[in-house]
Amino acid sequence: MRKPVRKRAILSLAVRLVFVVVMFVFCLALTQGPTYAQQPGSPPPLTLEKIRGNIYVIKGGSGANSFLIAGKKSNLLVDAKMTAESFKDMLSEIQKTSPLPLGLIILTHSDGDHVNGLRGLQAKVKILAHAKTYEEMLPAVEQTPELKDILPTETYEGSQSIDFEGTRLELRNFGPAHTSGDTIIFIPGSRVAIAGDLMFFGRDPLIHKHKNGTFYGYLKTLQFLLDYRPEIEIFLSGHAEPAGRAEVAGLISSLKEKEARVREMMEQGKTLDDIKAAFGVQPPPTGSQVRRLPLVEIIYQEIKDKK
Ligand SMILES: [Zn+2]
Repeated sequence: MRKPVRKRAILSLAVRLVFVVVMFVFCLALTQGPTYAQQPGSPPPLTLEKIRGNIYVIKGGSGANSFLIAGKKSNLLVDAKMTAESFKDMLSEIQKTSPLPLGLIILTHSDGDHVNGLRGLQAKVKILAHAKTYEEMLPAVEQTPELKDILPTETYEGSQSIDFEGTRLELRNFGPAHTSGDTIIFIPGSRVAIAGDLMFFGRDPLIHKHKNGTFYGYLKTLQFLLDYRPEIEIFLSGHAEPAGRAEVAGLISSLKEKEARVREMMEQGKTLDDIKAAFGVQPPPTGSQVRRLPLVEIIYQEIKDKK
């Protein structure tokens, strides 16, 4: 007779224990707020983070970081994500922070992950970019009819200054770097600059030779980034976290070191294959469609072309 009683007691203890664990997990879930399960292969969720004053970064979705400069009557958007869906999601996200219409879009350069989302633009809004960015966007637009409405409606050459509802912006192109039409937006009032794809940390910078990008131009533009407005403190870009002056200076030094090493090996009579092997450059996987030149090969070619 004693055994079943003990059994029942253990059972009831187990039930209570399960109940306590379930309630604990439930309460924990409540305190954590809603969680959005990310589908495999789907882009990361869009987030809007304040950088300083009226400047925000919009991360996530498909494509590179975009930036919001909130005005008094309208919003200024820098870059436009890669898909119509991400672009529309971004506009909804912006409305939660700055419920104003879109007044101006500036494109930092012509790459699809910064401009193709404009397919989702439904209102008539001025799109401003460097003249070379317009030219670089043309081939993709001509090949893909659905991209026809993404072209800049206005272009500038060299430099342009804008007073956007009280925020002064200086648009500068320092010559070919990542592409031939890179725009850097200096916002001196906030001591912030938006530098398109001029900053990659922990990986080699991308230089698009097919868009007349150059390594030496990239290096020169990074130096201009520091020198043009020495008061700038925060450097924003398409694929990196916000950086300070020391990080940009470190990037310049590391690229200069790489260039010096390639130059030295060339002077020692090393071949391109030797140099690539010394830098641990792997050949592209067999059947790979993407033919992206490794940075050391670009440096090698540019040193050779200079001679
Ligand atoms: Zn790019």
